[in-house]
Amino acid sequence: MKNLTCIVCPTGCSLVVEEGPPEPGGPRLTVTGNRCSRGAVYAQEEFRAPRRVVTATCPIMEAAGGEPGRPRRLPVKTTAPCPRERIPALLADIYRITVRLPVKTGDILLANWQGSGINVAAARSL
Ligand code: SF4
Repeated sequence: MKNLTCIVCPTGCSLVVEEGPPEPGGPRLTVTGNRCSRGAVYAQEEFRAPRRVVTATCPIMEAAGGEPGRPRRLPVKTTAPCPRERIPALLADIYRITVRLPVKTGDILLANWQGSGINVAAARSL
């Protein structure tokens, strides 16, 4: 049994996931506490293969002489959730990025990371 809070909408239903007997392809999961079907889908995904959107910051390449007051790091985020166990490897690759300005919100800085279909995009324009 696992207790979760649904994060799909602001209602934040308290969910309980219970495992049934083993079956081919994994045990059947029973979800209770959800007010809608999206909560059941979320709970099953969270139980079997949790994923997260990853946010971080990347250093900005310094212009010659620098610009006073300009941020030194750019916020970035993934365009799709990443399997939780792969987040440390993804962050290691994100931290190797050095951003060259100008950049617009949504510009892809790291495309199709390790063939996963996950992109890393700028989260603001600079
Ligand atoms: S179960 Fe449905 S109503 Fe409840 S928090 Fe999740 S999405 Fe919102």
